[in-house]
Amino acid sequence: MMTTIQREARLLGINLDARQLTAFENYYRLLIEANERTNLTTIIDYRQVQTRHFLDSLICASVLTPPMISNRKVIDVGTGAGFPGLPIKIAFPDLQLTLLDATAKKTLFLGNLVKVLGLDGVRVLTGRAEEVAHSPVERGKYDLVMARAVAKLSILAELCLPFCAVGGLVLAQKGQAVEEEITDAQHAIKVLGGRLREIVKVGNGNLIILEKLQESPPQYPRRPGIPAKRPL
Ligand code: SAH
Repeated sequence: MMTTIQREARLLGINLDARQLTAFENYYRLLIEANERTNLTTIIDYRQVQTRHFLDSLICASVLTPPMISNRKVIDVGTGAGFPGLPIKIAFPDLQLTLLDATAKKTLFLGNLVKVLGLDGVRVLTGRAEEVAHSPVERGKYDLVMARAVAKLSILAELCLPFCAVGGLVLAQKGQAVEEEITDAQHAIKVLGGRLREIVKVGNGNLIILEKLQESPPQYPRRPGIPAKRPL
């Protein structure tokens, strides 16, 4: 019999084998366990975690063709308890994933989780995107930059595009109302060297896909907090 996540993932074009399903079971168990001590998520019900965290994360990958995702360098900016990056890594074990979050208690959880799940090719970084994106090791190094529920698009453009290699993509996972946010972000996207490539309606929301055309100017992102305080 197929489990909910297996069936729903298949509808997204993603086939999960027994090992991957076990990884999701363990992810759920460890998330709930850690959530009793640390505030990681407000969603704790089994089915809700499957749909609103795991499957919702996999939606990101459903718009990518296999060559766009296998073996690629991916960073999840403001990953929280690992979303959307970690479910995507479980589904596509070839990719090289960096999980970034500003909150140490979250990255501590993620470091442990990655170890228990036995995943190779995952780095966990603690820091603010505004600072990490200036590190020569991280800047301009990623094929894909993902973010869910971190900030509105004008701010995300400044936080995410600097990580992206020229020719790479930023995937911003959003809700239903995106029109105004996109209009407001036009300037920021351009300044950061990007272009709006596509808006894909998926699940209950929209996936906004940006393409990086040119290097981001070196002064961006601005100091921590400034992108949110004074969006471009
Ligand atoms: N992406 C996850 C978490 C969303 S909550 C999900 O969809 O469930 C937003 C997360 O982004 C928080 O964990 C917060 O610590 C992190 N965050 C916010 N601004 C950030 C920044 N500038 N740099 C790094 N992490 C940031």
